[in-house]
Amino acid sequence: MSAEIIDGKAIAAKVREEVARDVEAFTARTGRKPGLATILVGDDPASAVYVANKRRTAGEVGIESFHHELPATATTEEVEALIEQLNADDAVSGILCQLPVPDHLDGVHLTGLIDARKDVDGLTPLSAGYLALGREGLRPCTPAGCMRLLAEAGVDLTGKHAVVIGRSNLFGKPMAQLLLAANATVTIAHSRTADLPAVAASADVLVAAVGRDRMVKADWVKPGAVVIDVGINRSDDGLHGDVDFDAVSEVAAAITPVPGGVGPMTIAMLLRNTLTAAELVAREEALA
Ligand code: NAP
Repeated sequence: MSAEIIDGKAIAAKVREEVARDVEAFTARTGRKPGLATILVGDDPASAVYVANKRRTAGEVGIESFHHELPATATTEEVEALIEQLNADDAVSGILCQLPVPDHLDGVHLTGLIDARKDVDGLTPLSAGYLALGREGLRPCTPAGCMRLLAEAGVDLTGKHAVVIGRSNLFGKPMAQLLLAANATVTIAHSRTADLPAVAASADVLVAAVGRDRMVKADWVKPGAVVIDVGINRSDDGLHGDVDFDAVSEVAAAITPVPGGVGPMTIAMLLRNTLTAAELVAREEALA
């Protein structure tokens, strides 16, 4: 069997086009643009590139961008004050505090201060709670992107056994919640899981988010399964996922490549979240 390749690059482009069209309609209807505020603390070069990409792509779909840079020496109080200011700013629909922040700051504490209605990363305790309770809210971008990839691949999750390898707050836990909400039967595996290859091989949908180069082998995959590879691992021979792509594509029915699978979806879903946040506020205002 040679698996269908789930083309994240093309699907992300489609999401961006949809968001651009919906932003135009929102702006025509309300007379204002959705706004994304980005906070970059310190001088980590990779973080600077990530934030620049997010701002550029936001501009391409008609989202206004407000960028704030603080020095690596910024105090907790200074970052807190900036987040409070952005929470109160009506021009700002979404706030993103790029992680990691410098070691003397607590990223979980700081992102937790973002108003849940503006939490476009979907990572605050309140957003996590809304997801767990099945309430409306902003969902974390990478898991939301994986759900869109599954939908685009035509995967009906109802009654399927989904195995998520990885239990991080950033990805594994929210991914499991989203799969559960879509009526899959979900197993979350991690570094202490007994007989991980057998657990993985019982999955109809296997999602790997570990950060270990090509860890998932062909005999970990049930023939005909759908495989979503979230891992990003850089080595001397290039960029690889957590899945041994060449071997697994001979067994799986569908698979995401690395690069060009899950990666491009994250920013696309951030843009979608920013528009959703702007729409939620406009709806509240209309009801007030
Ligand atoms: P993380 O916080 O380091 O979590 C890794 C998870 O993998 C943990 O739950 C850990 O288990 C588990 N794990 C580690 N070694 C394992 C093993 N040998 N067997 C089974 N499970 C194992 O990482 P993350 O933030 O979730 O990210 C995971 C990967 O996805 C990384 O490569 C990251 O770069 C990538 N990622 C990509 C995107 C994107 O494409 N935009 C977004 C987010 C993450 P324990 O909890 O037991 O330690």
